[in-house]
Order: sequence, then structure tokens, then C-alpha cells
Amino acid sequence: MTFGLPPLEGVPAADGSDCVACGRCCHHQPETVTLLEADEIRMGEPLLTRLTVLHDRPPFFRFVKNDGEACAALDRSVAGNYPCSIYEVRPAGCREVDAGSPACLEARSLGHLGTSVDFKRV
Ligand code: SF4
Ligand code: SF4
Repeated sequence: MTFGLPPLEGVPAADGSDCVACGRCCHHQPETVTLLEADEIRMGEPLLTRLTVLHDRPPFFRFVKNDGEACAALDRSVAGNYPCSIYEVRPAGCREVDAGSPACLEARSLGHLGTSVDFKRV
């Protein structure tokens, strides 16, 4: 069974202008995108309640929820468009995947986030 979207060829624009039409790095397995304390503060309680899940045992990791095979914060309401609905307050881990970076190119070639980005959990 395939996971994610069809692979995309080519290198995207470094300014991120190709990202909404791509969205490959926002397709991943559950409990992939971790929130650090600064991410929680930036996101705020309403978004944390709606979009994240907190482990009930130490060290109390918090993750952005999934909606199927994509991040629950990914707006998939328009076919072929994949904007992040919380772009301004997205977690630090998401900011590590720059357009054109190795993790980005891996995600495009796979159709989903790969293993070359390692989200910090502490
Ligand atoms: S995989 Fe690359 S081009 Fe696609 S959305 Fe992520 S950063 Fe942007
Ligand atoms: S929070 Fe936004 S940028 Fe990060 S994986 Fe989810 S949709 Fe993508």
C-alpha cells in the first residue's frame, strides 16, 4: 500500500513559493512532529487542545496530531493545495525542513517525510 502523495521531481524554489503545491513533508506517520516548550507557548492553549496530543506519562512528549497520513494542521480542503493552517506558529521541527534542503528533496522523492530529519524531543 502506498503512503503519502505521488513523488515530485525537481528542486523547489528556495523562497518556499512551491510549497503549497507540494505538501510532501507534511505527510508523515503519527507522532512525528514534536512540540518543544517554546512551540507550546507560541501555539497557545486553543490550538494545543485542538491539534496536539500529550502523552500521559513522563517525559510527557507532545505531538501534532495526524489526520490519516497527513499532519492534522495541514489544510487539505482544496485539492492540490497543501497550506499549513498554523504556518505562523508551526513547531520548530517544521522550520528545519527548508525548501530545497536534503529533507525537502527526500520528502519530494518519497511523497512523504523521510528519515533524514530528526525532530528533537527534549
Ligand atoms: S517537501 Fe519541500 S517543497 Fe514540499 S512542502 Fe516540504 S519544504 Fe516545501
Ligand atoms: S504543523 Fe504545518 S508545517 Fe508542520 S507538519 Fe503540520 S502542516 Fe506541515
